[in-house]
Amino acid sequence: MRLRLATPGPTEVPQRLLLAGAREIVHHRSPQMEALFDRVNAGLPPLFGTEGPVYTVASSGTGVMEAAVANCFSPGDEVLVVSNGYFGERFRDIAAAYGLVPHVVESGWGTGADPKRVAAAHAAHPGVKGVLVVYSETSTGVLNDVAAIGDLFRGTDVVVVVDAISGLLVHPLEADAWGLDVVLAASHKGFMLPPGLAFVSVSDRAWWAVEKASGPSYYWSFDRLRRFHPLSSSSPAVSLVQALEESLAMLAEEGLPAFRERHAVLARAAGRALDALGFTPFVREPHRRSHVITSALAPEGIDTTRLLRVLSESYGVSMTGGQAHLKGRLIRVGHVGAVDILDLSAILTAVELSLADLGHRFTPGAGVGEAVRTYREAHS
Ligand SMILES: *Cc1c(COP(=O)(O)O)cnc(C)c1O
Repeated sequence: MRLRLATPGPTEVPQRLLLAGAREIVHHRSPQMEALFDRVNAGLPPLFGTEGPVYTVASSGTGVMEAAVANCFSPGDEVLVVSNGYFGERFRDIAAAYGLVPHVVESGWGTGADPKRVAAAHAAHPGVKGVLVVYSETSTGVLNDVAAIGDLFRGTDVVVVVDAISGLLVHPLEADAWGLDVVLAASHKGFMLPPGLAFVSVSDRAWWAVEKASGPSYYWSFDRLRRFHPLSSSSPAVSLVQALEESLAMLAEEGLPAFRERHAVLARAAGRALDALGFTPFVREPHRRSHVITSALAPEGIDTTRLLRVLSESYGVSMTGGQAHLKGRLIRVGHVGAVDILDLSAILTAVELSLADLGHRFTPGAGVGEAVRTYREAHS
């Protein structure tokens, strides 16, 4: 059985990138590695909308979330955590683990964070040193308005840290123009690479905070990243950096506008397909829907834990459902990275077959048909 990933990270890795990561290993202090890092370091900042450097580390996404907290703040610092999902909660937990005092600005899972409430929380806690916010909240499929949130802190010393791990590339992000001080990303989402690399951009305002912060860090130290740049401070994930160079080439060939349009069409196609199969969109406001995944509540009588098991065991499709209270009720169809309409159609076919196996009644092809129609509409 062929295995297919319909998860929002890791994602399918194109053969071209797998092969790029299968080359000979070069030493991390060699001229070859320096040249490779120079090329990669030149390609990354425009994708973050920054003039500053973007550092590449061997890590999962969570590692750089932790690094941002460890470097920018000190124990006892108050921070705002804008949370409307699982990754927002992870930011809160990391902040608490480092002895910070997180004030959580919570909104319902599935709803976009309200910048007005963030402004009110800042007024209530004027001493906060930072704001931690997730751009594309992958646990629910919500896209938060980080441009508006960044705008609230212009002219202040508050450091705005954005988890753009799934949102970068898929949605526009302008770190400098939007006032986003630390922007985090990772290899296994839009970059179409295996997991293992994470990226972090650091603004001037963030560097002032880093210099004042007193918490310990060593492998994660931004200062060490800066000192060793353009090389890495210890052994880099050489194969992944080799593949990253190729990923940047693929992104440049497609162009970001086309890359984004492809994801927008896939999200629309998946949303309409699930509607046709009796699902209910989880994110009500269409303009707050992330194009990384499509999240939907299952029709009456369908337990998504069972649905996901059938998808995996009978059709080889890895898909995720809801976390915490959404377990059993939500499915999240991932379509980020190298996914095209043929891949999505295959995934939707597997969803239809699995629903039929579970006894759900619907017109066969109803979902796939909507996806095909949506694609045609976008390309005629
Ligand atoms: C994938 C993801 C992460 C990081 O997950 P890791 O498993 O640590 O790589 C963090 N935040 C968001 C929004 C994500 O989508």
